[in-house]
Amino acid sequence: MANIIAIANQKGGVGKTTTAVNLAASLASLKRRVLLVDLDPQGNATMGCGVNKHDLSYTACDLLLTDIAIADCIQRVIEPSPGFDLLPSNGDLTAAEIGLIDSEDRERRLTKVLASAAEAYETVIVDCPPSLNMLTVNALVAAQGVLIPIQCEYYALEGLSALLDTVEQIRENRNAGLRIEGILRTMHDPRNNLANQVSTQLITHFKDDVYRTIIPRNVRLAEAPSHGQSALIYDPLSKGAIAYLALASEVLRRHDKRQRAA
Ligand code: ADP
Ligand code: MG
Repeated sequence: MANIIAIANQKGGVGKTTTAVNLAASLASLKRRVLLVDLDPQGNATMGCGVNKHDLSYTACDLLLTDIAIADCIQRVIEPSPGFDLLPSNGDLTAAEIGLIDSEDRERRLTKVLASAAEAYETVIVDCPPSLNMLTVNALVAAQGVLIPIQCEYYALEGLSALLDTVEQIRENRNAGLRIEGILRTMHDPRNNLANQVSTQLITHFKDDVYRTIIPRNVRLAEAPSHGQSALIYDPLSKGAIAYLALASEVLRRHDKRQRAA
């Protein structure tokens, strides 16, 4: 069974999509079978993988609202070798968000979609939109874990409680096994005192739930999407690429540890 990880934070611009694309690429380069699901109507993860969001036959929207097969929707991203699969999205997904409201199993549509593919992958990464809407709820209901990227700044912790409340509600009503996969410090600048303070606060509050790996602020991570590439391909020796590789190893280590404990 695939480990399904939802990358969520209702704040925009905290590094969700950057993390989704680069974690998928890093796991692929470690020879894991990976599916990246773009669940944001902005389609940034899709474009960041070099797939044109304006030229898609089917998108995640079709999967959520109709009965088409997941294989008809998947696109192959070939780099880094051996590549990974992408469920692309674009603005049509806004229609899915609205269409789902009237659907009977509206919170479990993604769970059903992924059930048909769970055996094919070791890790499924879901890039969520910047809101706690029905799409994010679908991701949290389908997932085993939620990875929360946080930019260490003054308002970073504001909003985190709303997300954690949502996770708790989903645990109670829909997905008892949902865990905090990890809290990830992103865009970190060690010369910034406030960032260091917030980082320490996170460790004090969330202890081992905070990944050891810290993603630095790195311009290569910001440039790579405009080339339709992960940083692993765009500049494999950049600090950003190396940090995401380290994150992938940490994600795998934690997963193995949980499997052994189970
Ligand atoms: P979200 O998906 O949460 O909205 P993004 O991943 O799109 O956030 O990141 C927001 C912006 O910050 C993007 O322009 C992205 O390229 C840039 N960015 C993300 N992570 C980093 C980083 N570690 N260093 C520098 N720029 C980053
Ligand atoms: Mg995004």
